[in-house]
Amino acid sequence: MNMPKQPCDRFHPGSAPDFIPSPLLGELQLRRMRATVQRAYERVELTRSRMAERGLTPASIQSLGDIAKLPFTTKADLRDTYPFGLFASPMEEVVRLHASSGTTGKPIVVAYTREDVDVWTSVMVRSFAACGLHRGDVVQNAYGYGLFTGGLGAHYGAEGLGATVIPISGGNTDRQIMVMKDFGVTAICSTPSYFLHMVERASEMGIDVRELPVRVGVFGAEPWTESMRKRVEALSGIRAMDIYGLSEIIGPGVAIECAAQNGLHIFEDHFYPEIIDPESGEVLPDGEEGELVLTTLSKRAMPMIRYRTRDITALMPEQCNCGRTLRRMRRIGRRSDDMMIIRGVNVFPSQVEAALLEVEGTLPHYQIVLSREHGLDQMEVLVEVTAESFSDRIGALEQLSSQIEDRLEHVLGLRAPVRLVEPHTIQRSEGKAKRVIDKRVQA
Ligand SMILES: [Zn+2]
Repeated sequence: MNMPKQPCDRFHPGSAPDFIPSPLLGELQLRRMRATVQRAYERVELTRSRMAERGLTPASIQSLGDIAKLPFTTKADLRDTYPFGLFASPMEEVVRLHASSGTTGKPIVVAYTREDVDVWTSVMVRSFAACGLHRGDVVQNAYGYGLFTGGLGAHYGAEGLGATVIPISGGNTDRQIMVMKDFGVTAICSTPSYFLHMVERASEMGIDVRELPVRVGVFGAEPWTESMRKRVEALSGIRAMDIYGLSEIIGPGVAIECAAQNGLHIFEDHFYPEIIDPESGEVLPDGEEGELVLTTLSKRAMPMIRYRTRDITALMPEQCNCGRTLRRMRRIGRRSDDMMIIRGVNVFPSQVEAALLEVEGTLPHYQIVLSREHGLDQMEVLVEVTAESFSDRIGALEQLSSQIEDRLEHVLGLRAPVRLVEPHTIQRSEGKAKRVIDKRVQA
């Protein structure tokens, strides 16, 4: 079966707000921002007390830039007010709760009114449309269904688009592959690392994903690099699109790539972005790299004012070739809380990923192991190599590992030992890949 694998550019009416002229967008944003601040001030104790401390009232917001007068909201605020302290709607109006799995202690809980679910659906429809999906597409939704926002967010969006949804959720890889093949799947939603695992497993089952009708992947929920995208596209023959979102703001559907695959358009009519210096908290101009801060403009159950995402990016003010007027942000390569400090050097997992994917003969499965020996931090990188490289002479393997070590040293400014392992040695995840094993805590 040889189907075209190019995304379709057919216009979806739900995408109309993506093309709103900038002055009108600004007016809409200001009206919504003022209503959001008013709502939070009246209904959320934390917002009201923090604004009062600074002598601010909702009338202090006269322009979009005035939002910078307001204090930030952080993940700690969500934990401290667990479970419902930041809700601005009574439970009679809340139709859905989601929660994010906290790594320690309690999760954070987020709420949606009927209107919030509709907004969420609309931004997911616009996301899928920007990725070239439309009615007639068969969408395999391998994001986890449950408290995690990924599954239901993608589900409502794909249904809203008019596509056919297969709510398979994560896991049971062999069944995923059977469904992908037998149901004529044309689009898949999952984490990029889980999709890679599916492609490998398919190959072991004698199925070449490049020969299946699947042509688009909408991947998110974990940071991934441009090098990883190239690998995924080469191995599967699909277009791998990056979607961005977070539960605290709405779930998936905050920003999406278009056919240009050059930055993610932020749905600015619902989410107001700022980039700040993570140290000083100062707002930075467009084009400068810093931490993404988001204010929701239409959320009712849980308005978020200046939420610090910890994601590092930059806004791209230039007009995109696709014609959307929504500003783009650079792909998120790293999060400020992913940073590891190894012997005084700042290291991000994404840098390790980019470095090793530049070397022939490696697979995009890796793990960073941190340990402490004699009071010194040690970093070892486990890298899977292709079956062909592994069966090669020992000398060739040594050459390959020193090649990766050189590449890592060039990128990180730090020499770290690399251990090459056989294919399938590193455990696969059905959700977010576990890239870092930190043994220093127990040491
Ligand atoms: Zn675009």
